[in-house]
Amino acid sequence: MSSRFAPSPTGYLHLGGARTALYAWLWAKQNNKNFILRIEDTDRERSTDESIKAILDGMTWLGLDYDEGPYYQTKRYDRYNEVIDKLISTNHAYFCNCTQERIDKVREEQRKKGLVPRYDGHCRDKNLTEGVVRFKNPIEGLVSFYDEIKGDISIDNAQLDDLIIKRSDGNPTYNLTVVVDDHDMQIETVIRGDDHINNTPKQINLYKALNWTIPKFAHLPMILGSDGSRLSKRHGAVSVIAYKEKGYLPEVFLNYLLRLGWSHGDQEIFPVNEMIKLFSLKNVNNSPAAFDEEKLLWLNHEYIKKYSNEDLLLRLDELIKEANIDIHSGPNISDVLDYLKDRSKTLIETIEGMKIFYEDFDSFDTDKANKFFSEESLSLLSDLMSLLEGIDEWTKEKIHFCIEQICQKNSIGFGKIGQPFRLALTGHGNAGSIDSLAELIGKEKSLNRLGKAIQYQK
Ligand code: GLU
Repeated sequence: MSSRFAPSPTGYLHLGGARTALYAWLWAKQNNKNFILRIEDTDRERSTDESIKAILDGMTWLGLDYDEGPYYQTKRYDRYNEVIDKLISTNHAYFCNCTQERIDKVREEQRKKGLVPRYDGHCRDKNLTEGVVRFKNPIEGLVSFYDEIKGDISIDNAQLDDLIIKRSDGNPTYNLTVVVDDHDMQIETVIRGDDHINNTPKQINLYKALNWTIPKFAHLPMILGSDGSRLSKRHGAVSVIAYKEKGYLPEVFLNYLLRLGWSHGDQEIFPVNEMIKLFSLKNVNNSPAAFDEEKLLWLNHEYIKKYSNEDLLLRLDELIKEANIDIHSGPNISDVLDYLKDRSKTLIETIEGMKIFYEDFDSFDTDKANKFFSEESLSLLSDLMSLLEGIDEWTKEKIHFCIEQICQKNSIGFGKIGQPFRLALTGHGNAGSIDSLAELIGKEKSLNRLGKAIQYQK
C-alpha cells in the first residue's frame, strides 16, 4: 500500500502543494509504505515541461524522495479507456451527444427554479454510441465517508451530476483518472488539498461502480496569506524554489510546512527523523493556516544558530562556489561562521557576510558614506589608525580599548566612531560587533581598509 502526491503540472510547486507532498511523504515513511509521485498532466493545454521540472526540482530540494514514479497520466490512456469501456459495458456509463446550447438551456431553467444546475440525464437511457461519456451517478441515496481530518461527510446523490469521464476529444477527465490510478497504485490514504473535497463523493461512486476498495481520505485545509485571504503572489513568493533562492534551508522549509497545520504541544523545531516519528493525520488542524514569512525566517535563524560550523559549511558549499569566495584567503572559516551566525538569518545573508573577510572592495555605499563619513570622522579614524598601528597583539580586547580611548579623548559615544569604522572595514556597514570584526579581518587588512577610507574622505 502507498500514499501519493499527484500534482498537475500547470504551474510551479507552490506552498500548499509542498505541504501536501510532505504530509503524504511522512505518512509513507512512518508506516513503511511507498510514496508515489504522479504527474497529472491530462490537461494538455495547461500542462508544461517547465512546470514538471519545477515540481521535480522542488521535491529534490526538499528531499521528498519517492519510491515510485514519476508516473505520467498521459502515458496511461489505454488503461483509462479500458476502465471507461468497462463502465459502459456494465451500464455504469453512457454516451451523451447533447449540445452545449441544450445543456446551457437546461441549466438556466434549473437556476430559475432555484435548483442546483446539473445534467438532466437526457441521454442516460438512449444507448448512444458516440459523444462524451458520462458516468451514471446513482439517483438516490447518500454518499458518506469518513475524512481523517474533517470527520464524517455525507452528500446526497441528488446533488451530484452525471459527470463527464471522457471528453469528445477522447481525453479522460480528472475524476476518472484519479480513481483508476489510486486503485491501480494501491493508495491506502488519499492525502490532498480540501479544494478536492467536493470531488470525493463522485470518486467514491466510481469506486463502487467498479467494485473497487475505497481508499481512506484526508483533506488538508488550505494555506492562507497573512491577511487571511487565499495565498497568492500578492503575499510574496509562492513557489517553493523561490525560498531556496532566498537562502532558506530545505529542512527549515519542511519544518515550517509541517507546523503550518499540525502541532505537537508547543514544540517548534522538528528535525526530519522526529517529524516521521511524531506526525499524525489525526492532529492536522481542521482550519486553514496562515503563512507567515517572519516566522519562517525566525525558524531559519534558529537552525543556522544551532548547526555546528561543519554542518553549516556543508549547506553553504554550493553558494560559496557560486559566489566564488575563496575561504582560504582570509580568516579561519569556522571563526567567521561563529561571528556571522548570530546575525545571519538566511544562507544568503551568511554568504554576504562572509564576503567582507575574503574579498576586497573599492567603493563605499554612497548613502552610508554620506551619513557616516565627515570631517569629524576623518580625524577620529586617523587618530584611531595611529593607535591601532601600535597594537602588538591584535585582539578584540585591545581593539576595543583603542576605540574607547578615542571616545574618551573626544567625549563622544561609541557609535560616533563605531559606525564610520564599520563602514571603513566593510564598505557597506552591515556587520556586527566592530572589535570582533576587526580582529577577524586581521591587522594588516583592517589598517589597509582604514587607510583607504581615510583617503576616500580627504
Ligand atoms: N492533480 C490534482 C491537483 O494538482 C490533485 C489530485 C489529487 O490529489 O487527487 O490539484
